[in-house]
Amino acid sequence: MFFKCHHCYQAFLVGITIFLCSIMSLYYSLYLKAYFFYGGIFYLPITLAGFWCGKKAGLVSALFFSGLIILNSTVSSSEYLFNNLLQIMIFVLVGYVVGALKEKDWYSEKIIEHQAYHDLLTGLPNRLSFEESLEKELVFAQAQNQLLAVYLIDLDRFKYINDILGHLAGDKLLVQVSKRLIDALAEDAVIARSSGDEFLVFVPGVSEEQAIIEIAMKIIDSFKKKFIIHEREVYITISVGISVFPAHGKDSKSLISHTDMAMNKAKEMGMNGYRFFSTEMNRDISDKLYIANNMRQMVEEKKYDAFELHYQPMVEVGSGRIVGVEALLRWHHPDEGLLYPERFIEVAEETRLIVPIGKWVLQTACVQIKKWQKKSYTSLKLSVNISEQQLRDKAFLNDVLTVLTETRFDPSCLELEITETVAMNNFGRNIEVLGELRRIGIRIALDDFGSGYSSLNYLGTLPINILKVDYNLVKEIPFNIKKSAIATSIISLATCLNYEVVAEGVETEAQLVFFQQQRCTYIQGYFFSKPLPPKELEALLEEQQKEVAFVGN
Ligand code: C2E
Ligand code: MG
Ligand code: MG
Repeated sequence: MFFKCHHCYQAFLVGITIFLCSIMSLYYSLYLKAYFFYGGIFYLPITLAGFWCGKKAGLVSALFFSGLIILNSTVSSSEYLFNNLLQIMIFVLVGYVVGALKEKDWYSEKIIEHQAYHDLLTGLPNRLSFEESLEKELVFAQAQNQLLAVYLIDLDRFKYINDILGHLAGDKLLVQVSKRLIDALAEDAVIARSSGDEFLVFVPGVSEEQAIIEIAMKIIDSFKKKFIIHEREVYITISVGISVFPAHGKDSKSLISHTDMAMNKAKEMGMNGYRFFSTEMNRDISDKLYIANNMRQMVEEKKYDAFELHYQPMVEVGSGRIVGVEALLRWHHPDEGLLYPERFIEVAEETRLIVPIGKWVLQTACVQIKKWQKKSYTSLKLSVNISEQQLRDKAFLNDVLTVLTETRFDPSCLELEITETVAMNNFGRNIEVLGELRRIGIRIALDDFGSGYSSLNYLGTLPINILKVDYNLVKEIPFNIKKSAIATSIISLATCLNYEVVAEGVETEAQLVFFQQQRCTYIQGYFFSKPLPPKELEALLEEQQKEVAFVGN
């Protein structure tokens, strides 16, 4: 419990040994004026031999150094002889005792006990140890009728550090983060590394809500300073989830699991902040479970009829013509009615049910668009959203090829939309798959650009053809000057990189004019049309064709 890692523990034992040896040798040489001062330094190798290799090694080295002492003792007065004999006896005793303790696994037991309660990398207590300390503190808090806050700290985008700088750098950062937390918090704070990039904290004796918030702010502020990893400056933010005893849980397990929900909410709310647990979060979780169970049952029974695809037109800015459609998934839930992706896509991704569902989406959309292509909309393009789990699935490439062959769909009319995080995560492998898809002739679109990390640096290296400017950026255009400037730069950068640009979520004429002026290639949004069921979209296509025929006449 006392030491941060087993190396510290060993270093401590060796240190004690050196200290004792030095004291003894100084005592003999200075106080007794004994000439065998040098003999004192032999204790260290004898101890180490016993410590690392056991009794026999301890004894052998003790005898070896005794031999040296005897060889060196040129003076043979009775006093020196006595001192030499005393020295040799202590050598043998030390070698034997240290070796015997080693063989009895006395040290190892201590080390194993230490490891069971500590994190090897940072030396901090681990989750098990944290839970035990928290349980004890809760008994005290209950007796005193006090509040007790538990904090879960998660590093934002830690994955990027690992992916970009490597795992060694990631480990170094975690060690520095643990030091930063120790420095930021009071001495009696209990800090633990619970897993990966997650740390748990509680501070005893903090009872007021204001003080609880101040501690959260202190933790967040301590991350404003840069970290130096491999001589590079790294800035990182954190998301903190907080649960408070007794309101949010009465035992360590429920308090910790509630901090987890709160932390996830803090991430959803844009990271770099804290969030208290609320009972609604519990409701969210049970809703997710409910959705997940229903969805799993549907997929297992292959009841895909409950799903439906709506299609939203993608319009060419110059001509105002529909050039393609984006397939968007809907779910006719037996009890809940029509559900939109917001309610179920995340669950489908978390449960990996998106893999079979996504396959159904691609198949169904290709069949539908092929029908329209045959009906004189020959070059109509199809966009399908792809989740990371699909891209990572080993069968994905094969599945896409099978669908294309079965539906006789022209690959150059198919666009697969991925988000930036999908492209960045698991960098090499995902990029490889995207490259393969492009070789087949499929076009790749980067969806929701401008909403997340939006790394301009990576933009040039990703194998994409199309950039979709995110709705959240578009909705404030043209009145928000800064956002308009960002959109302008994104469009000009994308044009320089030879990407086509689609502005998503265009709702007003002012936005349309803005994108026309910026020479954006395509727009998509309610201004032109909402996502529509196939029949209604077909009507829209027919209407457009009539108009063209009319203009032609
Ligand atoms: P997305 O790919 O960015 O799709 C655009 C979303 O913006 C759609 O929401 C669409 O209805 C909405 N939208 C379009 N124009 C406007 C507008 O003018 N104003 C506003 N406020 N919204 C507009 P939807 O259909 O709810 O889909 C949400 C997200 O769910 C999609 O975002 C996509 O990421 C995901 N999704 C949808 N279908 C699938 C699917 O089949 N597979 C996967 N993996 N994800 C899907
Ligand atoms: Mg999309
Ligand atoms: Mg989008």
